[in-house]
Amino acid sequence: MRSWTVGDIRITQVLEMPVEVGVLDGLIAEATPEVVQGIGWLHPDYATAGGQTIWSLHSYVVDTGSAVVVVDTGCGNGKSAPLIPAWGKLDNPFLERLAEAGYTREQVDVVLCTHMHLDHVGWNTVDDGGRWVPTFPNARYVYVADEFAYHQGIAEEADISDDLAGAVVYEGANPDIHNQTRLVFAESIQPVVDAGLLDLVPADHVVTEGVRYVSTPGHTKSHHSVVVESKGERAFITGDFIHHPVQIAEPTWSSHGDFDRAQSAARRVEFVESAADTDLLVLGTHFAGTSAGRVVRDGGGYRFAPA
Ligand SMILES: [Zn+2]
Repeated sequence: MRSWTVGDIRITQVLEMPVEVGVLDGLIAEATPEVVQGIGWLHPDYATAGGQTIWSLHSYVVDTGSAVVVVDTGCGNGKSAPLIPAWGKLDNPFLERLAEAGYTREQVDVVLCTHMHLDHVGWNTVDDGGRWVPTFPNARYVYVADEFAYHQGIAEEADISDDLAGAVVYEGANPDIHNQTRLVFAESIQPVVDAGLLDLVPADHVVTEGVRYVSTPGHTKSHHSVVVESKGERAFITGDFIHHPVQIAEPTWSSHGDFDRAQSAARRVEFVESAADTDLLVLGTHFAGTSAGRVVRDGGGYRFAPA
């Protein structure tokens, strides 16, 4: 279990599971094995010797001293995932690892969500004898209102799915994003709403002292990353704004999962330029190996330096 400090704040990575190599092949079209092999620093943490990209599913626990904040909650156990079958009906010891990190379910004060895809909201709820109930009974689940409405729209309005199908379907996966989103709502979102634990907030909302949302649209309509600040130090939790470290070398490369690839690319170019050679700690939500590091200039481009 890895953790990093940002001023007085501690951030701990809690693994859900490594992604089996191959499951997300082709998600970033330009990142072919030949091209990835040419970006030497990606191996061994972020790519195999053969040039296949390596990915991870994990959460970050941000402990400010006055609040315990969980950022993104993975796939969860026992969930329906027709879009990516390898991520459905899982049985991982995530809550045991959370306990190893020093946190009980009851201690979590806030749950944040960069966006509402199936692999970011799963541990919102657990199966309690055939009923989905909130995993963190004392937490506020704080979501950006526009992002919530966007996914709710996909879940409820059948005619939206045709427009989105081309933008959100993973290669080889079930193209029924409409049904997947409806399942995510039923299993991982609605039980939180029903328990009265959901708070909808505006874009770029300050969640608690030292933790705020920052707008990074493109992967989804109102995707938000999370900025952590304390004592002059800063960290940035990417969500799927940066899906894989290869996008630090090549920030214009977007993913098949992106709702608006041009918007995602433009925002990423701006981010990588502004982060380069600063002390900003970048924590990747799907980065394998050492998942946190800094953006450094490398010749005419950029690379990720693990921390
Ligand atoms: Zn994701």
